[in-house]
Amino acid sequence: MEAAEMTPYRELLDEQKEALRRQLTDMGADPDADSLEGMDFDFGFADSAQSTAERNKVLAVIERLRENLHDIDLALAKIEKGTYGICERCGDPIAPERLEAIPYARLDMKCKQKESG
Ligand SMILES: [Zn+2]
Repeated sequence: MEAAEMTPYRELLDEQKEALRRQLTDMGADPDADSLEGMDFDFGFADSAQSTAERNKVLAVIERLRENLHDIDLALAKIEKGTYGICERCGDPIAPERLEAIPYARLDMKCKQKESG
């Protein structure tokens, strides 16, 4: 992919990255931390089974957002290296429609489908 072709995807990625960071910050998570450990939660939950479940739900969401953020960072790094839009498994170009829907996609449809069985 030519550098100029990557520009719209870079903009999409930047936007999504900002949105994710905002969401994480809103949830009390540090977007720059590497793991969930050492996070200082203060949801005002009482120490009950109910609140543990709530807390786990929030943690699961944070984990998913973090994974997305990580994928976005990887995609941005690939734009820097000029390898953006290439399937990590088979090396084929990822379809533009797919990149428009998921600009941080790491696999093309073919490999994605194989992966999910
Ligand atoms: Zn592939």
